[in-house]
Amino acid sequence: MIRHDYSRVEPKRRAYIDPKKRQFAKAEFAQQNYEHRLNFYTLPPTAEITLEEFETWAINRLKVLSELEACSFRNRSQEETAEYMTSILNKYLPLRSNSSRGANLQEERKRDHYSHFILRLAFSSTEDLRRRFSHLETILFRLRFREDDPRERQDFVRTLDLEWEEVGEDEKRELRGQMLAAIGSKKGEEQDWFKVDWERVPELVSQRKVLLKRGMAYVPAREQTSLVVAEFTKRLDEQLELTARALPRLDEDDRLAPILAHLSQSFTAPEAAYSSSDANIDGLSAINAGAIDTLSQNFPLCMQNLHMTLRANSHLKHYGRLQYTLFLKGIGLSLEECIIFWRRSFKLMTDDKFHKEYKYNIRHSYGDVGGDANRRGRGYTPYSCQKILTEALPGPGQTHGCPYRTFTVENLTGLLQRVGVQDRETLQGVREDVKKQRYHVACNRVFESVHKKEIKKVKDEGSWSATDLDTIVHPNTYFKRSWLLKHLGEGNAGIVGGDKMEE
Ligand code: SF4
Repeated sequence: MIRHDYSRVEPKRRAYIDPKKRQFAKAEFAQQNYEHRLNFYTLPPTAEITLEEFETWAINRLKVLSELEACSFRNRSQEETAEYMTSILNKYLPLRSNSSRGANLQEERKRDHYSHFILRLAFSSTEDLRRRFSHLETILFRLRFREDDPRERQDFVRTLDLEWEEVGEDEKRELRGQMLAAIGSKKGEEQDWFKVDWERVPELVSQRKVLLKRGMAYVPAREQTSLVVAEFTKRLDEQLELTARALPRLDEDDRLAPILAHLSQSFTAPEAAYSSSDANIDGLSAINAGAIDTLSQNFPLCMQNLHMTLRANSHLKHYGRLQYTLFLKGIGLSLEECIIFWRRSFKLMTDDKFHKEYKYNIRHSYGDVGGDANRRGRGYTPYSCQKILTEALPGPGQTHGCPYRTFTVENLTGLLQRVGVQDRETLQGVREDVKKQRYHVACNRVFESVHKKEIKKVKDEGSWSATDLDTIVHPNTYFKRSWLLKHLGEGNAGIVGGDKMEE
């Protein structure tokens, strides 16, 4: 871990340690050996890593947790979640079993271990963040537990030192009838049983899957997953409480505090950097000003709303223009064409006024004018959903922002119907999402509804992977994916392009 004394030395004692000795002391930190794929994250990491690793590993884990949360919001079953998550986990947080004989097992486990602890720091500050983190880490653990190699899984469970007692033969004979009746099983179906304090398996008790007797829960062996998962959650919740108490001491660290704050903000609304590959769409030739009306059918609701307002009023206020200009730049509209687009759109305005008051800002967005502060001549980056979702709400007459957040439910439904979303189930789902403030989930729900046929096709053909269809967290990704899906078989071959991110 990045070297820290906050967890090892009492603040009072710290003052008595000779700084010279501390500086040249032999590091007490060591690499851990990860025998098992699964981890209860009991021991904090102790080796040093770079700040870059600290941040990258945490962001990758965050991506995984966000996708798990999206699955949970969409009520995907365990099987559907497992299927959806396979390629996402392989890409962002691979973790293979010993039997895979992979060369990087130790490195994968190290990243898993460290990233868990980094996010633990980032998400222990409030009750709400702790609850969400614990919930999602539990889902992740369960997913991995279910899919682990059975022998390795049993080896791992043995190391946990769980306080379960195997039910002996005599007791089994005595309670057999009651135990089977409690789980609704037929005679002779269950062989092995454990007994455990009933408070340790609340999930099984509430689902009536165990026999309760004398304060103990009698659990069939096949429910072992629930026992282990419940234990995982219990220990994690305790640890999160402890971390929360240690957090104020971290505030002194000006290297980590901003990273941790950024991570926890990304948990509020998922962050995505703009990828320059979003502007390179196979099969879509150079975009000109005249094409925007047609292309707007593939825009996400935030940009469709801006486009429709622009067409209706021949004008957009400053923040709306900025949000829209950056988006258009992001889909590949050149500066020259962008100026033409705005000039034609502001048709009630004189040339003189346009050139004096508006043209400069467009050029500034593209980095054509402006100093160092203007992103070293490249202009500003198109806004992500997080940026749009967390900025101040628009005032009267302003249209920027995300309509899923800024519109009333009635107006939002009306807007969606106007852009062609008629499916009642989708509209109902959107209403529920926005009530729970899950705005980007609502947007993804609409995307899936509008592209239902096409998504089914690429899935059936296997031409797009699950990561090509992961949760959308950037308006430019929405456009690219929508355009490609609506033009399948017209010479494009799915989502292509590198992962190069703009700063
Ligand atoms: Fe736009 Fe993102 Fe809101 Fe969708 S969720 S409408 S892409 S800001």
